[in-house]
Amino acid sequence: MTPASGLGPLRILQRVLAARRGDPRAKEDIYHLRGALKFLAVFAATIALPGLLLSYYGLAGIAAQRDAAQAQVARDAELAADTLSTRIEAEFVAFENAALTRLKTGKSLHLRLNELSPAVRVVFRFDRQGTLAAPFVRAPPAASAARWRLSEAWSEAGAAELAGDYSAAAAAYAAFGKHTSLPAAKGDAAFARARSLLRAGDSRAAEAAFKDVERNYRAVRSVEGFRLGDLARYKLAELVVARDPQAGRSEFEKLIAGLLAEDWVIGEGGEAQVVKGALDNLEALGGDVERLRRDRETADDRQTQLYWAGALQGELEGLGAKGRLLPQDVGKFYYVSTPGAVWARTWTASDLYYVALDSQQLLHRLRGLAFTATAPGSDVAVAVSETDDPPIPDTRVRRSLSRAPQWSIVAYARNPAELAARQAGEVRRGLGNVLLAVGMIVVGTFLSAGLVRRELHSARVKSEFAANVSHELRSPITQIRLKAEALQLGLAESPEARARHYEVIVREAERLSRMVDNMLDFAAIERGVKRYDLRPGDLSVTVQNVVETARLAMETRSMTIEETYPDDLPAVWHDADAVAQVVVNLLSNAAKYGREASWIGVRVVNADDEVRVEVSDRGIGVRPQELGHIFEQYYRSNDLLARGQKGTGIGLTIVKYIMEAHGGSVSVRSTLGVGTTFVLHFPITGPIPTDRPGA
Ligand code: ADP
Repeated sequence: MTPASGLGPLRILQRVLAARRGDPRAKEDIYHLRGALKFLAVFAATIALPGLLLSYYGLAGIAAQRDAAQAQVARDAELAADTLSTRIEAEFVAFENAALTRLKTGKSLHLRLNELSPAVRVVFRFDRQGTLAAPFVRAPPAASAARWRLSEAWSEAGAAELAGDYSAAAAAYAAFGKHTSLPAAKGDAAFARARSLLRAGDSRAAEAAFKDVERNYRAVRSVEGFRLGDLARYKLAELVVARDPQAGRSEFEKLIAGLLAEDWVIGEGGEAQVVKGALDNLEALGGDVERLRRDRETADDRQTQLYWAGALQGELEGLGAKGRLLPQDVGKFYYVSTPGAVWARTWTASDLYYVALDSQQLLHRLRGLAFTATAPGSDVAVAVSETDDPPIPDTRVRRSLSRAPQWSIVAYARNPAELAARQAGEVRRGLGNVLLAVGMIVVGTFLSAGLVRRELHSARVKSEFAANVSHELRSPITQIRLKAEALQLGLAESPEARARHYEVIVREAERLSRMVDNMLDFAAIERGVKRYDLRPGDLSVTVQNVVETARLAMETRSMTIEETYPDDLPAVWHDADAVAQVVVNLLSNAAKYGREASWIGVRVVNADDEVRVEVSDRGIGVRPQELGHIFEQYYRSNDLLARGQKGTGIGLTIVKYIMEAHGGSVSVRSTLGVGTTFVLHFPITGPIPTDRPGA
């Protein structure tokens, strides 16, 4: 048998060309190859191609899945932004409805701010001329800067006051007042003079001077923003307290009541200060605690409102310039932002209202809404962000609020790193599955290719075996027929010639029967049904009998068989027929592959733990690289000398099986061109071999 022949493209081409030339072996190869190709085609159509298609769609699916995940985040972000938008809208609408209801029912927005919205801080009402309704008046044009205080005369008066010379200071202020024509400067000087007189200790003159200020400069505002009349009354009340606390207290009470009943001016804070100072005095004098608290609250509230109203001034002037200070879009709300406040503006039938929502509180409230606009486990979150806030990473949606454009709704990925990692993990898993599938297909392809290759080889080997068997059978049959016919026709006349013919017939018949035995045994071994009848016995006797028979059979080839037997041999468990078959096979090989007129050595050796039977020849030998193969079934050497001999490649296989069935083994030593020794190892120690199957 030939060793495994390759399936490379070059070799295939070679075989195709050889088949074209009519080489029967090549034709057979091509036949086998066609079978293999059919198998591969079926494999490709049913496994490889669908597998690759599945992998392709798997990869496409992974990409689609990743895109879908991104799209889902985008959708979630839109949804979150929508939800928050709706909630903010609802919040404003609720506020507007409540405000309108209050305006329609004539309830004061101003006094019940907290019911409307915790963020509402102040409400202003203007009439259709744009005049701010009570308790405020719009600020008159800004008072001219108090330039007189930079004059030399004023400075001298001030210096005298600082030096403690109050009488001189009072005289200097009086002189300054006489010379100036500005009413504000006159008032300023009159008040400064009254104060200096008081400090000089002349309270009578001071009282007269303060009364003068109160009479003549009542509405004049000091540089610090106080009305001189209010300051003078305050000082007069203090003077009264010094004389008569009871009377003084009622002076302060009158001062406070008067101020709280008046309109205050946007942008001016003096009135509140005076009220608070007067309240402090009353407290010291032991006034009505409850009333003091109420008045102080009112003053505080007004001060706050004056602060906010100052911020609105620009907006109002803008509206006035556009001629929009007339009722329009009654009941609709418009929003305008000033630093610190978002103003809701609306017209009733006759009046324009401004309601201030404190920016910080409003923002806080809207952010509270944002907090619950998404589920806690969601990949996206939504927030209300100020224009100058640092940008939120991985922002997906940004919408500015229609009512306060300085704020935006921002929807963003809650944890971009985790999101990216999760998506990458999904992609990795998908890729892993696809790679696994592809890997399995590749491995499957290789395994299948190996399988096909082995099947191809075994098909070749078997067909070669069949050819060898028929060849082997034909030659003894031909010999027997020829010799028998010769005898029948009386062609062999001499008794010697007849005897030779008979001898050939017997020898060839024996060869035939040996071959048939071998093949039947081989078939039985292969099927696993061969049984051996092991009994203890003398191995030397068994071997000797075989050699005797063989010597007769091979006489014509004039072989010398040299036998060596030990004197004492322990009994060896063996099947005498099977061992005979083994030795015959070895002798027949030694005769076949030994050279003409050669020598065969048969030696039975008693080793310590085994009995060895050695069959040696001085023949062609076996190449070292083939020593490992010669026991394989159907294996025949490629060596030309060996190929010259007929054979089927199963003789040594049977030897190996039988020896294994005896619990022993067979080994070989060989030198190319020198000779070969096969050694049968029979165990004599260890468990007695039982009836074992041959394969
Ligand atoms: P075959 O029918 O070919 O003899 P075997 O199984 O008996 O089959 O032997 C296998 C191969 O081992 C042979 O083809 C031959 O090449 C080699 N071989 C066996 N015995 C010998 C030997 N005594 N000397 C050289 N080669 C041998």
